[in-house]
Amino acid sequence: MLSDPADAAASSGFRLSRRAALAAASAAIAGAALGVRPTLAGAPGAVRRVGSPVRNLIFVVSDGMSNGALALADLYSRHVVGRPSHWSRLSGRREARRAQVSTHSADSLVTDSAAASSAWSVGVKHANGALCRPPDGSRPCPLFIRARQSGRAAGFATTTTITHATPGGFYANVTARAEEQDIARQLLERSVDVALGGGSAYLPSGAPAANPGVSFITDRAALLADTRATPRLVGTFAAKHCPMALDRPDTVPTLAEMTRAALARLQSAPGGFVLQIEGGRVDHAAHANDACSLLHDQLALDEALAVAAEFALGRADTLLVATTDHATANPGLTFYGKHGLTSMKRLAKARHSFEWVQDRYNAEPARPTPQAKAELLGSLITEATGVALESGHLGVLAAHLAGTQVDPFTARNSVVTVMGSILANAFGVAFISPNHSADHVDLFALGPGAETLPPMLDNTDVHAWLVDRLDLPPGTPVPD
Ligand SMILES: [Zn+2]
Repeated sequence: MLSDPADAAASSGFRLSRRAALAAASAAIAGAALGVRPTLAGAPGAVRRVGSPVRNLIFVVSDGMSNGALALADLYSRHVVGRPSHWSRLSGRREARRAQVSTHSADSLVTDSAAASSAWSVGVKHANGALCRPPDGSRPCPLFIRARQSGRAAGFATTTTITHATPGGFYANVTARAEEQDIARQLLERSVDVALGGGSAYLPSGAPAANPGVSFITDRAALLADTRATPRLVGTFAAKHCPMALDRPDTVPTLAEMTRAALARLQSAPGGFVLQIEGGRVDHAAHANDACSLLHDQLALDEALAVAAEFALGRADTLLVATTDHATANPGLTFYGKHGLTSMKRLAKARHSFEWVQDRYNAEPARPTPQAKAELLGSLITEATGVALESGHLGVLAAHLAGTQVDPFTARNSVVTVMGSILANAFGVAFISPNHSADHVDLFALGPGAETLPPMLDNTDVHAWLVDRLDLPPGTPVPD
């Protein structure tokens, strides 16, 4: 049975701010359709803001980061790099606060990135696929736009397209996340100050001429030489998503470099800023059951987190939050003893992603038989990962390419999940499926107001908690 969240908070002895109560009530209404009690005990507004509002918010997202991905990056960092991961180091600080977050959407126990980002942005449950267009048909003001209306600047850096679901949920109102051209139009019309990532294919033709107040750049050298001559910056370093970390050419900046550039611009905003940093391809690597890319994209996100933390910890007015929107494919290291350490060393030899393997495979002349196709694919897998495939594994690949279901779990019969399953014998990293999962996810906060973070909350509660920290007034919805 669904209880009134405001009543629940009152009976717990805490005071719930009106803003947080409204958001919690909306979440409860949306969740009722699923038969799920969405707002967990200790609603976010249950702890009232102490002291001055936070001036700046840096919200770091490793998209699709299962706890297994987090652990894998930390183990690799400790045993290969020689230090803990930055996520581990920062979230382990005495003053940090850490929470588990539930993530279901309005129409599914397993969320997608659009519904999850929208929950953070406007505080109500959404159907999968929708960006700030909840089931009641309204057009609530997205978080970036609300922050701009409060006098702050707003921006983001991502490794996906700049119009993808996670950044898009912070500035756009669309019923379908696939409408990336419409999302790009809204990005420009709504004056998001900094947008860095991929996705030049979705920008309107003639965008530079039509937006004289915006610098449009397309390569790493231009980003590193950015002179801040114009107030706004749009950098698209690929036609679609930026390459996976393992495949990144020198012309594409790292996520850490994009983070540094975004901070250099936004830090001079007179009213403060809200910045989202997204390691968006962690999710894609997990979907592909690609352990090497999953690790190296998570490590790239970890470097960006370090840049954000260096900025935030150097001052007293910036709240740093790091989390993920949902788990994907639940990878885990499954080798005991010395074999686990061996797998860390093997993962260090990875050179390319499964995406690279597929692109190279598709560029080759078609092979006549499943066995010949498997041999070509096997040679590319070896070139990318450093792992030589055994004949039995080539046979499994050939059977898959001949149309045989090789894994009893039907969902694990795409070519990449079969590749991932074969490579689990070398890396010890196994995946449960190619899909998102309903797991609760990790979130930690550092900086002013972090001490008010409840230890367990829903993703809609994260919105209410952020709004309280920033003391954001209600936003004015933006007409289409
Ligand atoms: Zn995904």
